[in-house]
Amino acid sequence: MEKFLLFTPGPVNVATNVRTSISKEDICHREIDFDKLLQSIENKLLKLFEIRDEAKYRAVVITGSGTAANEAILSSVVGNKNILILSNGEFGERLHAISIIHNTNTSLLAFQWGESLDTNVIDLYLQQHDIDVIAMVHHETSSGMLNPLDQIGALSKRNGSLFVVDCVSSAGAETIDMEKDNIAFCSSSSAKAIGSYPGLSFVIGETTEFEKLKMLPVKTAYLNLYKFYKFLNTYSQTPNTPAVPLFFALEEALINILKEGVANRHSKIRRKATFLREGMLNLGLKFLLAPKDMCSVLTTVFVPPHINIDILREKLRDKSIIIYEGKGCFKGRVFQVGNIGELSRKEILFFLATQGNILRDCEVEAPTNVTSILGDIPLQPLIINEKTLVSENSV
Ligand SMILES: *Cc1c(COP(=O)(O)O)cnc(C)c1O
Repeated sequence: MEKFLLFTPGPVNVATNVRTSISKEDICHREIDFDKLLQSIENKLLKLFEIRDEAKYRAVVITGSGTAANEAILSSVVGNKNILILSNGEFGERLHAISIIHNTNTSLLAFQWGESLDTNVIDLYLQQHDIDVIAMVHHETSSGMLNPLDQIGALSKRNGSLFVVDCVSSAGAETIDMEKDNIAFCSSSSAKAIGSYPGLSFVIGETTEFEKLKMLPVKTAYLNLYKFYKFLNTYSQTPNTPAVPLFFALEEALINILKEGVANRHSKIRRKATFLREGMLNLGLKFLLAPKDMCSVLTTVFVPPHINIDILREKLRDKSIIIYEGKGCFKGRVFQVGNIGELSRKEILFFLATQGNILRDCEVEAPTNVTSILGDIPLQPLIINEKTLVSENSV
């Protein structure tokens, strides 16, 4: 097989029209051709985010990966006020790491990785502290957990706080209702469930909130969110030279989603996740999260006791299959299998068959007294909390 099959939560295998679009034509980003391209992308992004009142929202596109959009938000919307970061994994911690660079009044409510955000704890915290901005991750990619936008959105509304969300790995796969859930700004990127190449990110925000940024201190030159808004509004351009070929690719990827229908795309990704998960359960594998907590983008799987994750990844790679290893406290204990991008049912079956063979071979090679991989695997999970331990078998 020539191509790599990217069972990763980004980068992804892109569609053929996305691949060919980058060599379309040479245009100048200070000419009408780019203005039109950017307008078209903005319109499509608002449709992807299912914004009902399109006049009230804008979408700026930034040349830079998802972190650029997060840093643009966190450096531009807080001013001298107080921001609270909610975290339950690697990407929540990254929001915190970015915020403390730009905002002296940053606080963090950190829950265990893989554990749900506890809304009672958050509610109490908000009552006892003066919080102007709340930031969190929608899909915490490091565990696969989908955090509840509706619940935190309602809390932010009641508290009168600006609510900003990292939707980098959920946009294109899960519903994000900015209007209902009181989200002032959210970020995402081109390279995950949207299905384009890495290198572009964007911020969708309420027009009135973009306008307010004018009054706030400027903390970064390149990632100044107000500047992106001003250039979009005034010239339909970006402040600095954009990666034009990636804009062509993003536009094609968005066309693909809108042609299919946003809801249809979401259910297609969910069907693939279910198919993949059923297959892996049949191989005797166990998952980190309960099904109700999982995002449809990826599955986090416990490394079976007698398997070395580096060897598993290497053997899969020999068959052109790429998976992710766990990060941070999950390192060596879990691996992650994505199901976004152009992965066909046949390719998922190929992955499952290959993985099954490797696990079986490892079992034969394993030294002593290892129980059957296809039977009941003795678990060596990271103990996160009792709830997780009870629920992990119940998929
Ligand atoms: C991928 C990802 C990011 C951005 O990472 P980049 O390497 O900058 O693309 C941010 N947040 C989440 C939740 C992600 O999954």
